[in-house]
Amino acid sequence: MSGHKHCHIPDTPGLCAGNYGRPVEELQAYLQCFGYLHLEKFQPAFAAVRDVAGAPSAESGAFDDATTNALKSYQHFFELEDTGVLDEPTIAKMREPRCGFPDIPSDPGIAEFVAQGNRWDKLTLTYGFGELTPDLDAAAIRSAITTALNLWANVTALTFTEVPLSAEPDFVIRFVAGDHGDGSSFDGIGQVLAHAFYPPPNGGALAGDCHFDANENWTVALPVPDGAFDLVTVAAHEFGHSLGLAHSKVVGALMFPTYSGAQRALTQDDIDGIRSIYPRPGAFMAGFHVLKALAIEVLDRYTEEDLLERYGRNLNDDTQLDFLGITEEVRGQLAEPTNEAFFSVFPQWTHVSIQDTKGCKTIGEYITLVAKHAQIALSGANK
Ligand SMILES: [Zn+2]
Ligand SMILES: [Zn+2]
Repeated sequence: MSGHKHCHIPDTPGLCAGNYGRPVEELQAYLQCFGYLHLEKFQPAFAAVRDVAGAPSAESGAFDDATTNALKSYQHFFELEDTGVLDEPTIAKMREPRCGFPDIPSDPGIAEFVAQGNRWDKLTLTYGFGELTPDLDAAAIRSAITTALNLWANVTALTFTEVPLSAEPDFVIRFVAGDHGDGSSFDGIGQVLAHAFYPPPNGGALAGDCHFDANENWTVALPVPDGAFDLVTVAAHEFGHSLGLAHSKVVGALMFPTYSGAQRALTQDDIDGIRSIYPRPGAFMAGFHVLKALAIEVLDRYTEEDLLERYGRNLNDDTQLDFLGITEEVRGQLAEPTNEAFFSVFPQWTHVSIQDTKGCKTIGEYITLVAKHAQIALSGANK
């Protein structure tokens, strides 16, 4: 049964270390629900996220050290005073409507998510609709979803296309209530509004899927009517998860866990996050052939000293993609395969760009690494 329960908001002010009983269990259930405490077999669909969170295990019903630490970690995440006591400000925060995706209180950083494979290995993604909400007509829902997806598409090379469910879209959008078969039940009006699942391989068949609590009153009207939730805002947040982002600790970021009104825009934090996973618009448009040309050009024409002299600067995360700018001249001479072609030939490119290059101290090291991977891919593609 534990897999199907949802979280009640703890409401016993003053609950603290040394207390026992049902109120403690409720607090623990809440902390477990959102990734701050460990509970076996709870919401298995989010297991990968919970594993990363590395939350402590507590004794059920006992306000032990693990529970205190989990509560402090919750308070820290939301910039409350980390008293380790269930005080009024903490209860008030817990009452705020929020996303059902667990937080990652230990904040392992972006690199860990990439290492887990929480990203799509292609840039052209498809989505489809399951159950809709009677609150809005289908055209309004589609428009809201398109608006939300475009926030991400505008700052990356990602594109999104609607297809029928029969075409097996990458992610499925559903409005569902209560227990809807993924081990993470919705809770009726308020509190948890929606959740979404990471890209493959995490989440299994649910990867990328986005579920909205059908018991909420969804709207696209601005200003948002009392008691209703802006579908564009919540959808844009959830698609951040569908694309591989976890919750941000930055208050005001779209990827902050709680909902505080319509916010139909990304913040710099959201943009930095998504660009750590996917290329910028146009970054790889010439794709495979550019990389091939780059590798050949680099290996044939320049020594590392030459390159340092020409592009003499250290490489940091932001310049990895900008660096491809040097191939403008090469790019102009080449045909333009699609991003899709690029990623189908170069699945390891993303691995190179995000992860391996972090160890590169100079642009020369970076180019050498890219060239090496290009050669590997070339030898594979020519077979
Ligand atoms: Zn979320
Ligand atoms: Zn669900």
